[in-house]
Amino acid sequence: MKAITLHGVGDVRVESVADARIVDPTDVVVRITTSAICGSDLHQYHGRGATPGAPPLVEPGSVMGHEFMGVVEEVGPSVARVKKGDRIVAPFSISCGQCEWCRMRLPTQCVATGRAVFGGRFGKQYPGGQAERIRVPFADHMCETVPADMADEDAFFLGDILSTGYCCAENAGIRPGDSVAVFGAGPVGLLALQSAHLFGPARIFVVDRVGYRLKLAEELGGIPVNLDRGHPAEQLRALTGGRGPDAVLECVGHETPFAQSIQAVRPGGTVSSVGVYVEPLIGFPVREAFFKDLTLKMGICNARNYIVPLMGLIQAGRLAPTRIITHTIPLTDAPRGYTIFDRKEDQAIKVMLKP
Ligand code: NAD
Ligand code: ZN
Repeated sequence: MKAITLHGVGDVRVESVADARIVDPTDVVVRITTSAICGSDLHQYHGRGATPGAPPLVEPGSVMGHEFMGVVEEVGPSVARVKKGDRIVAPFSISCGQCEWCRMRLPTQCVATGRAVFGGRFGKQYPGGQAERIRVPFADHMCETVPADMADEDAFFLGDILSTGYCCAENAGIRPGDSVAVFGAGPVGLLALQSAHLFGPARIFVVDRVGYRLKLAEELGGIPVNLDRGHPAEQLRALTGGRGPDAVLECVGHETPFAQSIQAVRPGGTVSSVGVYVEPLIGFPVREAFFKDLTLKMGICNARNYIVPLMGLIQAGRLAPTRIITHTIPLTDAPRGYTIFDRKEDQAIKVMLKP
């Protein structure tokens, strides 16, 4: 089958790889109908997090991607609930549904998979979803059926970035009337913005430097703040009567915006961070965080927990995740998709791949 593989920094290729197949009796094989490129893929694409001189964290030739949905094509002998022909979406992290952490609704901490992510480098290695087919382990727990009248594009983001954006807003403890700032107007930040509206804040500022992304943020009800026009914390204080936003949603995943989020939030406010930090945070402003009495919530999203509740919000028209899609291209065009998404060319925000 065809798949997108990673060979080194900036080197993704379309290759023929071994077909996805049933390995464990609880697996299914899914024929992928839609896949996508995520900001998290860019960390690997840039080789971030690897110690200089050490071997790469993922084997060269690994199949990329953790955002996918499709139709179940083969079913392992121990799978009871999922059936051949079911149209499903699955979360980006792989969990057994049975271990202590899974039972505590922390599937990203699953001990059976060692916190694995499709196409990722943590825990056990499972091939990713930028491919024609994928093996989904623990299928009865992992797969959620998508209603026939729901388009791929509507259901798709439940497996990762809509759930992540929503949990970022939820973790920020936003109350009606609050002022909120979202750092990052990429796919995750824009969906965090949509989600934050559900909690009734008075105003949501969105910080980025990419004009076309800030423009979409504005269309989605955000107030754009261009970080190149002055320190974002100072701009946000000026916009909130000198106090700073009540809640800051960090959706970038670099040290600078993380520090800026802490600098921006009002005393006693909350910083909720979902950006992935693959390198140590050397400049963590611990003193400022301490003296501000702030609350910090960060982490990987337990997307499995959000798929069902958020599906209802999409069906009711209260979340419109398709608004962030700018490109839908053939899977075999994915190397170009990586380039435009990474370099922010051709107005790219979310690049969808069709096998
Ligand atoms: P993206 O790279 O497209 O978006 C990041 C945006 O941040 C860009 O528009 C960039 O211009 C902007 N930016 C850069 N520096 C900034 C700064 N100092 N202040 C404000 N904005 C700044 O990526 P994405 O797909 O939106 O993903 C965002 C982050 O979310 C990534 O780190 C990704 O790994 C992470 N993520 C986390 C989870 C999770 O479970 N926690 C899930 C999915 C993605
Ligand atoms: Zn992702």
